[in-house]
Amino acid sequence: MTSSLDLSARISERVEKLKRSLDENLKEAINEYTEQAIQFMLGIGALPLYFDMGGVYALKPNGEIVSTSWDEVEHLTVETDQRIRNIALFQGSKKYPELSELIDANPHINRLCPDCKGTGIAPLPSGVRGGNFLCYCGGLGWVPKPQF
Ligand SMILES: [Zn+2]
Repeated sequence: MTSSLDLSARISERVEKLKRSLDENLKEAINEYTEQAIQFMLGIGALPLYFDMGGVYALKPNGEIVSTSWDEVEHLTVETDQRIRNIALFQGSKKYPELSELIDANPHINRLCPDCKGTGIAPLPSGVRGGNFLCYCGGLGWVPKPQF
């Protein structure tokens, strides 16, 4: 079990390391927008985790998941939707395995993903190839139960 203080320190350390090897990390940037977004997130001390059509998601050392859109890189949103937070952390954990500790997989608060039925693989219409489509659950196979 890792304390949140340890994790916070490790996130900051990762961000510092990424800043030092920015050229290496910018290889991930597929265009000037992603490059700008990566630099912006690192600049505010957040660890970029995941990109999608809308923008980039990053983790701040205090545990907040923040996102920004490609149109307005400097307009930051704090993600409060647990499903979105889980997707960002799960996708980020492929690169930074320690982040999986932050995903709450408790079956009492989660349910099977209605789209993929637990496989984590997005169901696609026949004839459509997988590519970069991400399931509603982000690949986890489950989603948080609705809160009423
Ligand atoms: Zn799914």
